[in-house]
Amino acid sequence: MPALRQRPASLGGPFLPALRAGDPAGAALGVADRQTVESVANRTGAATVTSTATLDKHVLRELMAVVGHDYVLHEPTDLMVFEYDATIGRSMPQVVVLPETAEQVSEVVKLARRHGLPVTPRGAGTGLSGGAIPEMGGLTLALTRMKRILEVDHQEGVALVEPGVVNLDLSRAVKPYGLYFAPDPASQRACTVGGNVAENAGGPHCLAYGVTTNHVLGLELVLADGEIVWVGGRTRDLPGYDLTGAVIGSEGTLAIVTKILVRLLRLPEAVRTLLVVFDEMDQASNAVSAIIGQGFVPAALEMMDREVIQAVEPVLHVGYPMDADAVLLIEVEGVREAVAEEGEAIEKICLAQGAREVRVAEDGPERDRLWAGRKGAIGALGQLMPNYYVLDGTVPRTRLPEVLRRVGEVGQKYGFRIANVFHAGDGNLHPNVLFNARQPGETERALEAGSEIMRICVDAGGTITGEHGIGTEKRKFMHWVFSDDDLEVMSRLKVVFGAGELFNPGKMFPTDEGSGEVGPAQIMRSTGPDAYI
Ligand SMILES: Cc1cc2nc3c(=O)[nH]c(=O)nc-3n(C[C@H](O)[C@H](O)[C@H](O)COP(=O)(O)OP(=O)(O)OC[C@H]3O[C@@H](n4cnc5c(N)ncnc54)[C@H](O)[C@@H]3O)c2cc1C
Repeated sequence: MPALRQRPASLGGPFLPALRAGDPAGAALGVADRQTVESVANRTGAATVTSTATLDKHVLRELMAVVGHDYVLHEPTDLMVFEYDATIGRSMPQVVVLPETAEQVSEVVKLARRHGLPVTPRGAGTGLSGGAIPEMGGLTLALTRMKRILEVDHQEGVALVEPGVVNLDLSRAVKPYGLYFAPDPASQRACTVGGNVAENAGGPHCLAYGVTTNHVLGLELVLADGEIVWVGGRTRDLPGYDLTGAVIGSEGTLAIVTKILVRLLRLPEAVRTLLVVFDEMDQASNAVSAIIGQGFVPAALEMMDREVIQAVEPVLHVGYPMDADAVLLIEVEGVREAVAEEGEAIEKICLAQGAREVRVAEDGPERDRLWAGRKGAIGALGQLMPNYYVLDGTVPRTRLPEVLRRVGEVGQKYGFRIANVFHAGDGNLHPNVLFNARQPGETERALEAGSEIMRICVDAGGTITGEHGIGTEKRKFMHWVFSDDDLEVMSRLKVVFGAGELFNPGKMFPTDEGSGEVGPAQIMRSTGPDAYI
């Protein structure tokens, strides 16, 4: 790929896009406000765009000339669909463009840059940290039309796909070759491989096989000047910097991903799925530590608490016992003999930790039923309360019992039920705060409870996300885990990639004034006047 380079300011100049008036929920989430961005603009000498109402007709015409009339959306009713992801915040784009090829993406990016429009890439919009919400308005680049599986090399176990391919569709398409794509977010029926790359998504089966970054060999990217480049490639262990690794998990801030070369795994010969029932949550947490502590790494090791069971069972009828305090869903896979041996050993460990029952799925349909409960768990929470706020933190496994107790205390303090469904094997918690947004003040209190829970994770030696990313939701917590220097070094990657604030501005980095702010001014200071911001 051609060398990435710093761009002189004359190519684009300081860039600060139009801001949308944040709604109350957005403001509570820490959505950057006009004042913050304007004050940054004043210090960098950048012009702020003050009108966000509509785009000039000639800009729309130029965009239509690139992708076709039908694929440029600008009517408010069409735009509303794109103001959400799966978080609480919302903000409308000024225009949505749906390209079909990398060349079209490149042309759209050049146009957006020329007209000073921030670009927010978007897959299926299932993100849980606000990444696809265009909080500064501008152009949403929806990549869902780019959904072709371009090549499957079943001998090599690789596939070349476009970013809009739905995660589960990829595994279904390669199943006839005895292959699958390992990262399996619970949202896999809807989320896209491009979104998985941007968030470095995980999933129940990532405990044994690793998250998205472990399954991507190379990426085609569109940079901020419209150039189309490749990072990584078919050969494993490439020399030089791991630029593929830098882009994975960058949440759409460095480049637009237009092709993905993924690694595929062989379907296992045998699978054993266990549902382990506990009368006490602590017993389940201790069983998780004991399984891993005794050297077993199951393909999946998931936990669901009483609240989740109460939500799932009446709706999905998957066979979870309504009177249990917690269940573990454990899967071991591999060669037949090893699976039988490992399954039995894990069963013994669970019984020793106080499990009241261990059920082994007898056949494929029973296994699918047990997993349907896990994968439908977050959706089923809507049975308990109108709204839920899904959190994502990671803690050392050995701290699970204590952290879960403290999460329960936060629920009591704020008067919320909190439902836990999570990837217990890697200590990746998902407490869901159940609330009713129609009750005045409840959204703000739910967000406050969420902050306390995140702080508990950090204090326990964990961190602020396991897989959902930072987006807008967690950026204010970045100071808890990174120093100002860390953040500044990280933000320089935007300059190296030439992205400045064109792609997904305001995401990932704290936008607050004062200590730790990493905005255009700070990047300028650290990189000199030639940096393209
Ligand atoms: C019910 C439910 C369960 C979930 N379970 C899991 C889980 O188990 N594990 C997990 O990791 N996540 C989970 N998620 C979160 C979410 O599904 C993942 O983060 C997923 O990877 C997002 O994919 P998406 O296509 O919806 O991306 P979007 O939400 O559209 O976008 C996510 C981010 O990626 C960027 N982006 C999207 N496409 C591109 C591209 N082509 N180039 C550059 N940037 C891009 C966006 O700008 C944004 O920052 C869950 C969500 C829900 C609603």
